[in-house]
Amino acid sequence: MGMSDAKIGAGFVRYLDNWVRGSQEQLAGLYEEIEGAEQSEFPWEPAVAALARLDERRLWKAFGTDELQNLYDWAHEAEMPVEAERFMSAEQARPYIDDGKIPSDVRALVMSRDGERCQVCGSTDDLTIDHKITPWSLGGSSTDPSNLQVLCRSCNSRKGARPLED
Ligand SMILES: [Zn+2]
Repeated sequence: MGMSDAKIGAGFVRYLDNWVRGSQEQLAGLYEEIEGAEQSEFPWEPAVAALARLDERRLWKAFGTDELQNLYDWAHEAEMPVEAERFMSAEQARPYIDDGKIPSDVRALVMSRDGERCQVCGSTDDLTIDHKITPWSLGGSSTDPSNLQVLCRSCNSRKGARPLED
């Protein structure tokens, strides 16, 4: 360890914040840097703090249970209770975080509300439930019927992940 007394400039903190907002691969890379920190003298405390500033869903998607446990342990050992708490709550939230699957009761409700037909072309064949307003990948709900609509597979694939324009 031994980096706790190091002066870390605001520029480096911004750099880390940009890093953690990057791709899944960049997050995995930062995790590896932290894991190997004792050998490489990587300033891991600000790196752990930067990861702890991510929202729970991002942490949960990027890291498995073991990795979140390690992050918790590292933060805990470094006496970073706020950060440790963040990793723990991301792990504890796992069963409750929207994973993009639409629950069967919500699916049934949306089907019946939309008259079991495609809301674009009226087809009754090959129906899917679509994230209507905000795609799940952009944080849209999979459990709120107002964010969902019935589309046939061909209208849905034509729409892609873009919000449908009226
Ligand atoms: Zn259609």
